[in-house]
Parts: sequence; structure tokens; C-alpha cells
Amino acid sequence: MDDVELTGGCQCGAIRYALGQKPQNVHVCHCRMCQKAVGGPFAVICPVLKPAFRVTRGEISYFMSSDVGRRGFCSNCGTPLCFDYPHGDDIGVLAGTLDDPNQVPPENQYGNESRVSWYAGLKDVPGDHPTYVNNPEMRLRISSSNHQHPDHETKVWPPVDGECG
Ligand SMILES: [Zn+2]
Ligand SMILES: [Zn+2]
Repeated sequence: MDDVELTGGCQCGAIRYALGQKPQNVHVCHCRMCQKAVGGPFAVICPVLKPAFRVTRGEISYFMSSDVGRRGFCSNCGTPLCFDYPHGDDIGVLAGTLDDPNQVPPENQYGNESRVSWYAGLKDVPGDHPTYVNNPEMRLRISSSNHQHPDHETKVWPPVDGECG
């Protein structure tokens, strides 16, 4: 095991996990199942050996996307979290659920036959808008009522009185 410990979890914070190993063969998967499972144009999957994957809060729910593969998610908030073959050696967490997705640059691509036609041009799509910067009222309403778990470990979530994050 490396001495890194990456952490992550779902949007609501009911499920948190830690990785005791640096993910290997981080890959983009464009397959149609991954598109559906993450609700996006592709999944970024970060595999670790199963003993290195620890759920530190809550319990992951699963949808069997085939007889051999399953998709883990939070049943409270719906965040897709992981993919694995129950009889396989590794489990792939989804990059966006890590507290710091910058730690897992992809090194491989799969399912290119299903890749969306606009993928190659994505970086050239115009626009460079910080989130809601042009709508301060909306920005304030979101930040002052944020139910998303922060990108770090918390002792108690949701916070109780007097407990910050
Ligand atoms: Zn959740
Ligand atoms: Zn896939």
C-alpha cells in the first residue's frame, strides 16, 4: 500500500469512503452503461484493490447493471459512487466523488465506440463563467443553504448546533 489516503463520498455526506492505495489505471469510460450510470457523457473510474477501499460512513446501495457488474450509489442523495464486479479484485470509485479529483488524472480510455460526438470539441466550447458570478442573489441563496458535504472529513454530518462542518 502507498501511504496516500484519498477520501471521498456522496453529495449529502451519508456515505464517506477512504482509499488506502493510489488508484491504478484511472480511466475514462465512454460506454453507454457508464454514461447512464453517472448521468454524464463519460465516467472517470479510479480502481483500487478491494481491501484498500473502506466505507467510513453509511452503507452503499447497489444496482446490478448486468449479472456481473454493479453500480454503487447513495440511496439518500442519489450520487453515483463506484463500479465493480462483485467477484473481481478491484473496485472503481468515480473521480468526481473524491474530495480532490485533481489527484486522479486519467491514463486510459475505454468504450470509445460510444463516445459522444462532441467530446473532442469540448475544450473549445466558448464561455468561462465562474459559477453564478453574474447572479449574486442566486449565489448567496445557494451558499447560505448548501446541503453538500464539504470536501474533507467531518465528525458529524449534518452538523449539529455548535458543530461546524
Ligand atoms: Zn448521499
Ligand atoms: Zn463503462
